[in-house]
Amino acid sequence: MTTRQKYIDYSQLFSQLIDEEDEMNETVVSFLYHLFPNELFVRGISVLESGNMFIYVLEKDGKELHSNSSSSTDNDAPSVSTAEASEPSSTSLNDIFQSSHTKENSLVEKLYTEPHSLTYRLIVKQEELKSPPIYVDLPHWFCSCDEFNELFKQEMLENEEPSLYSQAVFELIDESEHLEDKFGLLAPRSGHQRFFRHELVMCPHLLAFGLILETRPAMLRYFIEKRSQVFLITIQNVDEWLKLHLNIVV
Ligand SMILES: [Zn+2]
Repeated sequence: MTTRQKYIDYSQLFSQLIDEEDEMNETVVSFLYHLFPNELFVRGISVLESGNMFIYVLEKDGKELHSNSSSSTDNDAPSVSTAEASEPSSTSLNDIFQSSHTKENSLVEKLYTEPHSLTYRLIVKQEELKSPPIYVDLPHWFCSCDEFNELFKQEMLENEEPSLYSQAVFELIDESEHLEDKFGLLAPRSGHQRFFRHELVMCPHLLAFGLILETRPAMLRYFIEKRSQVFLITIQNVDEWLKLHLNIVV
């Protein structure tokens, strides 16, 4: 089994991107710029700052988040998880906002602590209205964009040896070994940590979602709340959820 080239803890490194003052740390930016080929880091940040990234969570049994009663499947008019859609009645707007904020926070935590317990989809809306949305799947290291698929074909399918799996996956066989890094971490098999060798195949969309979902909850909160550039949306209705899925695969 090919070992990972290096034991860089990408999650740790990405976590330092935003400093205590909520500013981009220029030293880390410069390091990451040189770490990734083809200006991938710049393009990843550009996706992150485009305002086109959506995290849709299916709300099962009303448990994930109650506040967003007007959730939507329409990518053109997403309903973000703030209190703006609620009509004030006897409850004050401030109470509604606080409640919504608390629930959003708990969902952010859950995306980190128990992501496998959630049904969620990561979507990047494309600038051209006629282009279909891009579907990103971090736990399986997949993206529906052309760049990812072209690289995948070049690196994986046109090489006969070694096997596709051993080329793509780095697995920690020794049970005493454990990496804190979460970037490229795949769903576990036989209790072993497995990583996709992202240095082989990566695109800006996987990098952008990795930056906010495989680092620390504060990073995700920063881009949702402070920058309003990533949208966390809950969907209650299964039919709407399926429609969302159809929109992506068709
Ligand atoms: Zn992509």
